[in-house]
Amino acid sequence: MLVTLKEILQEAEEKDIAVGAFNTPNLECIMAVINSAEKLKCPVMLTHAEVHESVMPLDVIGPIMVDIAKKATVSVCVHLDHGETHDYLERAMKLGFTSVMYDGSLQPYEDNVANTKKAVEIAKKYGVSVEGELGILGGRESGSAPSERKIEEMYTNPNSAADFVKATGIDALAASFGTAHGFYKEKPKLDFDRIEKINELVSIPLVMHGGSGVSPEDYKKAITLGIRKINYYSYMAKAGVDAARNLLANEDIQFFPDLALASQKAMEADAEKAMKVFAHK
Ligand SMILES: [Zn+2]
Repeated sequence: MLVTLKEILQEAEEKDIAVGAFNTPNLECIMAVINSAEKLKCPVMLTHAEVHESVMPLDVIGPIMVDIAKKATVSVCVHLDHGETHDYLERAMKLGFTSVMYDGSLQPYEDNVANTKKAVEIAKKYGVSVEGELGILGGRESGSAPSERKIEEMYTNPNSAADFVKATGIDALAASFGTAHGFYKEKPKLDFDRIEKINELVSIPLVMHGGSGVSPEDYKKAITLGIRKINYYSYMAKAGVDAARNLLANEDIQFFPDLALASQKAMEADAEKAMKVFAHK
């Protein structure tokens, strides 16, 4: 059943779990994630990232995501990930998405507040929830741990987070505390004290981005400290490629859908593993 971000995070709060939010830029990804959620009876989020527009247009995949969510027996929130313009967010809302993320994290604080607040106002008309972001979630290009100065620049300041949430009216907050997008070159070191402090000062659920590659112990600790949504994609998507690579040597495979299905099954296994940790199963 299709639910909003606010509703699915409430369910997560009651169950003391985190909801996995998976980017699903093609049908195999959608099927992998939905099948896992149905099997484990877990609430789940299907998400489309604006950066995946070149891989799969929102207008093509969006209606399929919404339709599959409506038919699911578990709660499913269909969410736009890292939207950068109000127009793009509204396109998703018109397609029936129940949640959007406005990413103004690279803007000066005041602009981020004003633009996120505007996203909340637009979303209200559609009954859609909004996730905002404060702090910078870096890529992992350098592969080294950030310096003390970099940490203060990039990681979410707990006091500013409290002001940001009050000023914007968002339903969930993406915070920066040591995770990053893509693949990790070394084990990520999460700033748990910071998560705890933000959770103390902020009344809404917190979101972990760059969830792929964090250890099961660290996920669980973060969940006990207030993380209710975990964005997970890179390692699931890579599992699909690894499966395809193994199958390519097999001459019996002649039809592309067979290859795609093998990749889907591998992604399903990876998503299931992640969901089990998020839901303490
Ligand atoms: Zn992200």
